[in-house]
Amino acid sequence: MDYDIVFLDRVELTPVSRQALEGTGTVRTVPVTAQEDLLAAVRHADAIVYQLFPGHLTRDVLERCRQLKVIGRIGIGMDQVDLQAAAGCGVTVVNAAEAQAAAVADHAMAMMLCLARKVVASHTALAAGDRSPPWQFMGIELEGKSLGIIGFGAIGRRLAQRAYGFGMTVQAYDPYVPSDAIEEAGATPVGLAELLACSDFVSVHVPLTDETWHLIGAKELATMRPGGYLVNTARGPILDEEALVAALRGGVIAGAGLDVYEEEPLAPGSPLLALNNVVLTPHIAGWAIEAQVRTQESVVKDVARVLRGEIPVSPVSSAGGSGVPSSPSPAGARRRPDLPASASQPMLPYSEWDETGLPHSSSTHPFGAVPGLRKIIETEGPVTTERAYKVYIRGSGSTRVTKLARSRLTQAVNRLLDQKQVQIDELGNPGDSGHQRVLRVPGSTPVVVREIGSRDLYEVPLNEVVALMERRLEMHPRATHEELMRYVLDTYGWKRLTDKARAYLTAAIRLMYED
Ligand code: NAD
Repeated sequence: MDYDIVFLDRVELTPVSRQALEGTGTVRTVPVTAQEDLLAAVRHADAIVYQLFPGHLTRDVLERCRQLKVIGRIGIGMDQVDLQAAAGCGVTVVNAAEAQAAAVADHAMAMMLCLARKVVASHTALAAGDRSPPWQFMGIELEGKSLGIIGFGAIGRRLAQRAYGFGMTVQAYDPYVPSDAIEEAGATPVGLAELLACSDFVSVHVPLTDETWHLIGAKELATMRPGGYLVNTARGPILDEEALVAALRGGVIAGAGLDVYEEEPLAPGSPLLALNNVVLTPHIAGWAIEAQVRTQESVVKDVARVLRGEIPVSPVSSAGGSGVPSSPSPAGARRRPDLPASASQPMLPYSEWDETGLPHSSSTHPFGAVPGLRKIIETEGPVTTERAYKVYIRGSGSTRVTKLARSRLTQAVNRLLDQKQVQIDELGNPGDSGHQRVLRVPGSTPVVVREIGSRDLYEVPLNEVVALMERRLEMHPRATHEELMRYVLDTYGWKRLTDKARAYLTAAIRLMYED
């Protein structure tokens, strides 16, 4: 098929990306800088790919793109796409989860070092001819300091690893990552208030959602240590910038390192530029050569996969509605008045959820199923057979189900079991590698829930990956390397693997492409 693939940025494709698109369609580059020009550019597109495009793929635009099959974000943050609408329109959305994690963690670390040792302030003074004595630039050591990480995902974890190397202690706040997974990674799970009060450095690594908009405002800043530093390489609106400027001016905190801003590019008149206790960079945390190549190639390959009718490796949400982000809003949470649709719209009805068994694409995505699950269980009407059944299946397969959501799901399903509205057949012994659980609801197709689905993040060790590949090879002796990798990733999802298993797969994939 000759698909119409529209790039909204001038992207220089690597040979690997070009090869991936070969035979799939024709690439049109239409740089769009104004929202009102967007529809004309993408109306007939089969695929939209963007990197720095400044506008929004809104419901209105998406509903008018009749041919659209896939959107690829050459990056990680998905705040510009109405993901609910995309799923409703049957459009798959892919990004490059993890591809920039090392680069952004490096950048956050660099900011902490710059703040601690006043690197930028002393450089600026020196360049301006200032020969102040060294004590003017007295800094602090990182060793022995505590780092609070908000959002313990791909970047947060990598930052923790770097911080351990500097002799720091790490505490993390992430209500969607089980406490034991945070502990296993060497950090202490804490609540947000405790993290703010007890950290010398606080680094933000959550996605921008309804829930995280202005997560840190005047009240939170006031609870930080007076000598504390704040770093934000995630998204600008997660911090209330006005409150931050006031806190920096008033010495409420010692300094801030910012790569992202409420409005980008940062206006020349921004009060942040007049402060000497900040380190500012223009949204470059992910801009390391390796990260950018990885990001582009991963997204382009996934776009080509979707156009060829294959399953993408890094889906944000799939056509048909799985994995669509929706944030829980705890009581008292502040709400942004003009949220982008992707963050503010309600959950999809369950009827639009996939029932293909587990694990499924959403388990690889930060938004995952948990917020949705929690919202359904806690705020929506009575638990009907079908709803609880679907919710349970999603829940037991999600790597990100909180303990509360999991226990409520289990309760709901147990009630249905008592009422004989659901039947669960255990195949094999629980705990055995071959164990499967089949759920049946009268009138619905039985769904297999793999036992692996109930595990938490980063729990699949290398030997299990290898055993899975060997079993697959026994059944399909002619399977290629690529098929084996895909099978492993489809089964577990990238995020579920231990570091060792990931390293192994990464090396294997690299070899595969060098072949
Ligand atoms: P990730 O999905 O792996 O991790 C995000 C973590 O945040 C998840 O563990 C999730 O559970 C947690 N989280 C979600 N809502 C939360 C909340 N309300 N409170 C606490 N934790 C919450 O994502 P990642 O790859 O680590 O990236 C994080 C963000 O960094 C991205 O969303 C993106 O916006 C940003 N980013 C910035 C750059 C840059 O150049 N500055 C580059 C890449 C990514």
